[in-house]
Amino acid sequence: MRPSLDTQFAVDCVIINADIRTLAGAGSLQRPSAVAVRGNRISHVGESAALGALAGKNTRVIDARGRLLLPGFNDAHVHFMEGGFALANLDLRDAASPEEFTRRVAEWAGRAPSGRWITGGGWDHERWPGAPLPTRKMIDSATARNPVFLSRADGHCALANSLALNLAGVTRASADPPGGVIVREPESGEPTGLLKDAAMNALWRVLPPPERAEKLTAARRATDHAARLGVTSVQDVLAGDDVEIYRALAAAGELKTRVYAMYPIARWLQAAANPERPQSGGGLVRAGGVKGFCDGSLGSATAWFFEPYLDEAGNRGLAGEEMFPEGAMLRRVLECDRAGLQVALHAIGDRANFEALDLFQTAAARNGERDRRFRIEHAQHLRPADIPRFGRQGVIASVQPYHAVDDGRWCGPRLGPERLKGTYAFRSLLRAGAALALGTDWTVAPLDPMLTLAAAVTRRTLDGKNPGGWLPEEKLTLEEALRAYTSSSAWAEFAEREKGSIAPGQLADLVIVDKNLFAIPPEEIPTARVALTMTGGRVVWEA
Ligand SMILES: [Zn+2]
Repeated sequence: MRPSLDTQFAVDCVIINADIRTLAGAGSLQRPSAVAVRGNRISHVGESAALGALAGKNTRVIDARGRLLLPGFNDAHVHFMEGGFALANLDLRDAASPEEFTRRVAEWAGRAPSGRWITGGGWDHERWPGAPLPTRKMIDSATARNPVFLSRADGHCALANSLALNLAGVTRASADPPGGVIVREPESGEPTGLLKDAAMNALWRVLPPPERAEKLTAARRATDHAARLGVTSVQDVLAGDDVEIYRALAAAGELKTRVYAMYPIARWLQAAANPERPQSGGGLVRAGGVKGFCDGSLGSATAWFFEPYLDEAGNRGLAGEEMFPEGAMLRRVLECDRAGLQVALHAIGDRANFEALDLFQTAAARNGERDRRFRIEHAQHLRPADIPRFGRQGVIASVQPYHAVDDGRWCGPRLGPERLKGTYAFRSLLRAGAALALGTDWTVAPLDPMLTLAAAVTRRTLDGKNPGGWLPEEKLTLEEALRAYTSSSAWAEFAEREKGSIAPGQLADLVIVDKNLFAIPPEEIPTARVALTMTGGRVVWEA
């Protein structure tokens, strides 16, 4: 049977009466009111009356009732699987004191079967009066039957109880590994249970890996969470083998989020053996990147700086373990780049960023001209002289505004006024011609894009102490922030031709927001909710 004219030309879905910001092209003057979708792509962008006429009897017509329609959010830096687990794990993010921390661990342990590992965490001692680091003594008596390993919010240190330390063989006699610190009691030299960066590896080695079924469940939880928040794409910077879990979920039609997956740089050969490169295709799950670490984190005082932390004499932080032995990271960056993989380097401190920029510069010079889109993840503290290098070298700054309003509560005294000049310097980076990609680093920060937008636009710290914005000259406008969260983050994963703006031919990844972000005071952005999320033409969330 020949299709009728109606079905032949009809579109699958049309959204009318929307306030559309296409974020396509340089200007934002274009304000169409309707978008039509055929299959998984946008077929038309225009006016409601004209596009409404494209509806056939099987077309779904969505009346946006004047609400804001944007490209779906693309979170340029997440730990998606971890996020899925965290949604069901012990979550200590809002534990406001050491006492509450102890009490909640004890409650959780009281319900856990004997012998079962207790993991999760998200604790942040910077929230506690006086900011004392937790020790195993705070949790040992309540957790005698369960090994415990609880990460700090930034994932760069974790607290183990005595049972877990025993299982991992971490004792007074254990030496600090390169790139890591076993925190010790000052008199006895006994481990306190707190392990920083590479010192956590001893625990990771004995922690039983989750089973495949548990991973599938966690990934389902993560993609549901993302759909509800309007996040249609994520870049999982340490996905590794989890990419297979995402593919399985996609094959079952259960994946609601596009995933760009990177491998740890130490396992780049595995990434290179896969024929996929970042430029390939518009599938739900893509791979082709690798990520390495140049240093630790600011909250764990392991971010690598030129000058010492002001509150810890002599401590300049640490080069990450992958920076050893000397020359190892350069060799890897060169090899990965030669293999056509995209290379991302984690760098927080100004020294780490300087080294990462140098590594990229050397690699580009030795391997020759090509569209490689090197990225620095976090790019958090920069010497003013290094900011223009992002633009000049074409290095993408993959940044997390929520970290700024979080760290802004306490990092001033740790860094001092000079270093604050290049701290979370989003506007300076843009001005220097850098491509800025926004993300959350979920689970380090919440996945909710509204919190990240508000942080970028207001820079109000979480403690409410900077109502005019912390380092306010680095605020982004809402439009800049939205671009960095959609088209620029698509660029950061070589996918700007596929997604990131509202234009015919782009994937139909769209969100309707229940409040007009351009009309409400910026400090109210966190109260906005996503009313509808569409990924590839499929409605995956509706309030
Ligand atoms: Zn991360």
